[in-house]
Amino acid sequence: GREIHLASRPLGWPSESDFVLAEVAVPEPGPGELLIRNEVMSVDPYMRGRMNEIPSYVTPFEIGRPLEGGAVGKVVESGSAEFAAGDVVLHQAGWREYALVADDAATTVDVTLGPASAYLGVLGMPGLTAYAGILEVASMVPGEVVLVSAAAGAVGSAAGQIARLRGAARVVGSAGSAMKLEYLRSIGFDAAFDYRDGALRRSLRRAAPDGIDVYFDNVGGQQLEVAIGALRPHGRVAMCGAISMYNAEEPPAAPRNLALCMGKRLTLRGFLAGDFAHLRETFVAEASAWLRAGELHYRETVVDGLAAAPGAFLDMMRGGNVGKMLVRL
Ligand code: NDP
Repeated sequence: GREIHLASRPLGWPSESDFVLAEVAVPEPGPGELLIRNEVMSVDPYMRGRMNEIPSYVTPFEIGRPLEGGAVGKVVESGSAEFAAGDVVLHQAGWREYALVADDAATTVDVTLGPASAYLGVLGMPGLTAYAGILEVASMVPGEVVLVSAAAGAVGSAAGQIARLRGAARVVGSAGSAMKLEYLRSIGFDAAFDYRDGALRRSLRRAAPDGIDVYFDNVGGQQLEVAIGALRPHGRVAMCGAISMYNAEEPPAAPRNLALCMGKRLTLRGFLAGDFAHLRETFVAEASAWLRAGELHYRETVVDGLAAAPGAFLDMMRGGNVGKMLVRL
């Protein structure tokens, strides 16, 4: 089987040469282990942080070892009584065709609720992030105005729709192309603007003339500054991500207006999806009901073949995806 190894630690933007495709022997599962043929794997922004040497909330990837990440595959051989060959499971040993996984690190996915790939997106970690961010972290209540950045991506598209489905008065999204803005309107965003057009403040004022109550921040930097300016008293920011900085070699200047937080009594709260694992079942039940009713929409941008995974990761970081970026193996 083949797998993608980290060849070198990128400084700034990664390049294809930071990754290498390696051919390895397919392992045999021991007691309590599963051999899985991966079918779909996820590329996610947080993986950029794991390519650095500095440990954060997740350990760094190791040079010369396969990268890791969410994947869905079929059990080909089971050394565990809990799983049988043919089971479709979700686990964290992506970036390889064959994964050897301990049985307690795999979960069966219910393909009657959605396709297996959805467990890497709308029904999986990104969906849970959106759900927890809007409802728990930002404590959105019906009638509020919500802004979401990177709104056409996996997390953002779910966050905006969940806000709407749970009674937001107005949902505004920002994204990086006209095609993405059109997509946002088609899935129920009330307004959308392109953050690249150089008139952020004006665009947001036009989209939300009376200000916003909640900002679901996927981006950090300049957009966070403009959102802080637009937040109404007692507004909340769910600090989900800061993708505008992940490949930066220097920290950004913005936001420069944090002092507004006092007078406006703002709350800026960072969070990790993992903090909300206890909501997973509730979330999957509610989200799959919305999917069935046709009220929650999702898209996937799918790239073929393991060898294309580094390119897919880079393309996602540059905005080449609508919805969840996936690699089909
Ligand atoms: P997306 O599907 O949203 O893909 C990333 C998107 O980011 C791109 O499509 C691009 O869209 C946008 N982007 C890239 N660079 C910039 C920039 N400089 N400014 C603004 N937008 C940019 O990824 P995910 O949905 O998986 O993740 C979205 C965010 O959520 C990330 O910040 C990620 O780290 C975070 N996250 C946090 C979690 C947590 O536990 N806290 C869990 C999961 C995700 P465009 O064309 O619009 O620029």
